[in-house]
Amino acid sequence: MDTKKILKKHNIRPKKNLGQNFLIDNKIAERQVGYAEIKPGERVLEIGGGLGTLTQELIKKPCKVIVIEKDPKLQNILQKRFGEKITLIKGDALETSFEEIDKVVANLPYQISSEITFKILRQPFKKAILMYQKEFAERMTAKPGTKEYGRLTIGVDLYSKAEILEKIPKNAFYPQPKITSAIVKLTPKKPSYTPLNQDFFLNFTKAIFSQRRKKLKNAIQNTRHMMKPKPSKQTTKNAIKQIGELTEKRPGKLTPSQIANCSNKLYKEIKKQK
Ligand code: SAM
Repeated sequence: MDTKKILKKHNIRPKKNLGQNFLIDNKIAERQVGYAEIKPGERVLEIGGGLGTLTQELIKKPCKVIVIEKDPKLQNILQKRFGEKITLIKGDALETSFEEIDKVVANLPYQISSEITFKILRQPFKKAILMYQKEFAERMTAKPGTKEYGRLTIGVDLYSKAEILEKIPKNAFYPQPKITSAIVKLTPKKPSYTPLNQDFFLNFTKAIFSQRRKKLKNAIQNTRHMMKPKPSKQTTKNAIKQIGELTEKRPGKLTPSQIANCSNKLYKEIKKQK
């Protein structure tokens, strides 16, 4: 498929605000679909069908392919190319329900990477093979103590195991993006730790990582106004005392499980607050 020719024929100028960097290497699309290990009858979601480079590989599998595309011009192309072979959802993936999906395979529009990822993670699925900016993929899969480790790593870790499968060069896309990309596999998992309140845990993580160079005790004190429910000064002091030694460390050195422990202790103290 000659991407440039198709774009010219339909008088389409790729839209930056919709992350329209189209994959032009069919071999990569083939490998992405292979990584998804699609079983007969599975429901596979593609977010952002574009001109159909990935879609054409998905329809070779004995599965039900559901494609969401926001751009009306691209919706028409997808409809003409694949007709009944796909279920085309004409709309915004952020506003579409992802119910009853087994696998997700997508070259994501990068500007909505985070929102889309958490939307996938918060509902049942078996595996997701997703293309991201390399830097974003590295933050998703980072280890404690590295500069990439942060609230994205911890948010993703709460729901899934994330692995980088391949780095993808800029010239695999048209128009070429400014940065290298990476294919990530997400497999759902139960975390080895249990936040008492997931929203508070994610909120606590966001707050303390906004002061990642401070010791945890100072980070908690300085950012308590960012937390919901907000701990009082006294509540914060009590929790820091209970957490003990760990509060001498910097947030970036703590594992997700240690952070959950700290957030649980603070949450318990908040519950005692009047
Ligand atoms: N799948 C194609 C490929 O591999 O070449 C296109 C990938 S391109 C990186 C991202 C696609 O997502 C574009 O077709 C764009 O129009 C579409 N898109 C952008 N924002 C979207 C949204 N919120 N909902 C659905 N599709 C969206």
